[in-house]
Amino acid sequence: MKEPDLRKIRKSMEKKLDHKRYEHTLGVAYTAAALAMRYEADVNNALLAGLLHDCAKCMSNEQRLAICEKHNLAVSEVEKRNPYLLHAKVGSFLAMKKYGVTDKDVINAILNHTTGRPGMSKLEKIIWLADYIEPGRKQAPNLAKIRKAAFEDLDQAILLALEDTIRYLNGYFKEEKLEIDEMTLKTYDFYKNGGKSV
Ligand code: FE
Ligand code: FE
Repeated sequence: MKEPDLRKIRKSMEKKLDHKRYEHTLGVAYTAAALAMRYEADVNNALLAGLLHDCAKCMSNEQRLAICEKHNLAVSEVEKRNPYLLHAKVGSFLAMKKYGVTDKDVINAILNHTTGRPGMSKLEKIIWLADYIEPGRKQAPNLAKIRKAAFEDLDQAILLALEDTIRYLNGYFKEEKLEIDEMTLKTYDFYKNGGKSV
């Protein structure tokens, strides 16, 4: 099957997503494309994964859980308690079934864009990081430093961003403590260990 038409995908996202999420999506797609140029990854795949990464973001938790149930997608306990985490899993499923994506790397980049995973491919790293640094992001700490690092050393930038993500979820930057998906911690350990399994 031919990979989907980027212009059509963009139009569908404009319809499916709310305005803010659509702006974020474009930011991720173009940032991912720039990173793909820098690191010699496939620019079209970066655009495609960027455009689709949040395709399941603007639906209710009930809808996401219903899609998982209907299509036998496994839902972990953490995901049950925080169904927004499911937007990556449901998004990668929709990318395949609804938007006609066949490239495994693109599908994985969407699947792992929230928590990352140890041993991410170049494209997975690019999408994970583009989601963190795209121009519309404002509130993350150390953003300027991480944005610069992103174009110098991909793994180092991911490590810095993961560090802040975990600090944020631990309530370091504000009162509220949020639940951390175990995979985020595993990803952090992996990249802290220089990209080798712990
Ligand atoms: Fe997302
Ligand atoms: Fe996103």
